Amino acid sequence: MSLQTEEIYRTLLLYSADAVIVTDCAGTITTTNPSFAKLVGAAVEELIGTSLANLVVADWEHAEEKTIGQNINADNSEAESAGDTQAVTILSRTGSELIMPAARFPLFNQKSGKPDGHLTIIYVIQANSLQQAQTEFVSTVSHELRTPLTSIKGFADTILRAGDRLDSSQQRRYVGIIKDQADRLTRLVEDLLAVSRLESKKLQLTIRALDLKEAIERVQQNLADKAKKHTVILQIPPGLTPVWADADRLEQILTNLIDNAIKYSQAGTTVTITAKGIQDTPEMVEFSVCDQGVGIPEEHLPQVFSKFGRLDNPLVRQTEGTGLGLYITRSLVLALGGQITVESVPGSTTFTVKLPAATPEQQAARGRG
Ligand code: ADP
Repeated sequence: MSLQTEEIYRTLLLYSADAVIVTDCAGTITTTNPSFAKLVGAAVEELIGTSLANLVVADWEHAEEKTIGQNINADNSEAESAGDTQAVTILSRTGSELIMPAARFPLFNQKSGKPDGHLTIIYVIQANSLQQAQTEFVSTVSHELRTPLTSIKGFADTILRAGDRLDSSQQRRYVGIIKDQADRLTRLVEDLLAVSRLESKKLQLTIRALDLKEAIERVQQNLADKAKKHTVILQIPPGLTPVWADADRLEQILTNLIDNAIKYSQAGTTVTITAKGIQDTPEMVEFSVCDQGVGIPEEHLPQVFSKFGRLDNPLVRQTEGTGLGLYITRSLVLALGGQITVESVPGSTTFTVKLPAATPEQQAARGRG
């Protein structure tokens, strides 16, 4: 290694916010950096010669180990994937325990090529931003839960206190509000469970060839009551290639998009649902849901797919929603190997979803499997 390269590595080690530890074959620390020392509450010099296993509890046996070369060649997408990191517990000298993502790389002796120990990286920056996102999420969820709960408690208190002094129509109205708010809570909890399933990657998919027209018609029927004041038009060519998807998830995606199109457009307007093959990309099938509603300002378009991304406009304020629907929809589309985009101008919003087509090859492969 040239002197300059060595200097670069030394500086990186010294100033890296991530913790870096080199251990020999016995697991004894031979090199580490101030970031790791700070995590465990000790000085770098004190740590050299001690056993890493006493400071970091990890199940490396079951983790996928990277090799240094693999990492150097990795492109950004690979580097960002959390799949090959594992959660480790850091035991600080103050007695506190921290759980953080980490990865371990085997080291080999340059001359003999024999195993020479390990390089362990603890991703402190990633852990901190995860922690921050989690804190923000908990605070938003608490706020969202408190609003309907306050209303339920307020009206239940009124009924209890005023009792017989309320006439029957007042009583019915208050109980109606309690029921609506309880329904809102149920929806919120269901959406939160869906988010948690998606994020913990526990989503079980049953992929098969599905007729898009049938799925759209089923959802249209389920939403018929909500769409009573709208005209819903289907534009689906005969003989459309089926999609390669999970039936329940496809229905959920369609329900969220069509429900939004109805919610965020005035009565008397039209919602058009189109499905078609894509000329240049025969391996995908596309459908779109287009409304004549309030629209989404261009600068807010990316926000609609984020958690609790409700925009502020009169129609949104009038309608019920958790702000989780499009986040769930986008996650489901991605889980099915598809893409979702949105285009909007005042008076028209179109959500377009592309899903893998059920090509004869896929169906044949399934038959063999
Ligand atoms: P929710 O409908 O429960 O609020 P979503 O995640 O489904 O949550 O949508 C997020 C936000 O995106 C909505 O609150 C609304 O502001 C906006 N939005 C979604 N669909 C449309 C649409 N078709 N037209 C206009 N705005 C929309």
